[in-house]
Amino acid sequence: MKFSRKAEAALRRRGGRMTRARRALLELIEKSPRPLAPRQLHRELRRAGVRVDLVSVYRNVAALLELGLLHRVLGSTAVRPCAEGERPARCHHAVVCTACGSAREFHSLALERALGEVRRATRYRISGHLLELRGLCESCRS
Ligand SMILES: [Zn+2]
Ligand SMILES: [Zn+2]
Ligand SMILES: [Zn+2]
Repeated sequence: MKFSRKAEAALRRRGGRMTRARRALLELIEKSPRPLAPRQLHRELRRAGVRVDLVSVYRNVAALLELGLLHRVLGSTAVRPCAEGERPARCHHAVVCTACGSAREFHSLALERALGEVRRATRYRISGHLLELRGLCESCRS
């Protein structure tokens, strides 16, 4: 299912009304090839003529992060839509292009197995991990 549809359904279940501004926000997040920060989302919406205040952009983004429908790029406030949209039972890593900022989500069982090895070797009780790959996407590479 498309991100905007999933997000709309999830927000409705929480009792949120689907306003024009909210729908425009979801569509913007879905269409953007690169993760955008709340301020940038707000600016883009205003530029497109959508009347929305920054606080409500922040509030919506926070709700979607909490629902696991958005992920934050490490070390930044930019968010990207989850490629899966289920509550992260498994983790959702991303590879981010350092040139154009585009992001793609990926899962790797092999990677998780390798992390299990680290856990056993360090004997820590691990509660989570953060991992994001940086590099050049296909179009920036050519
Ligand atoms: Zn995800
Ligand atoms: Zn992982
Ligand atoms: Zn790129």
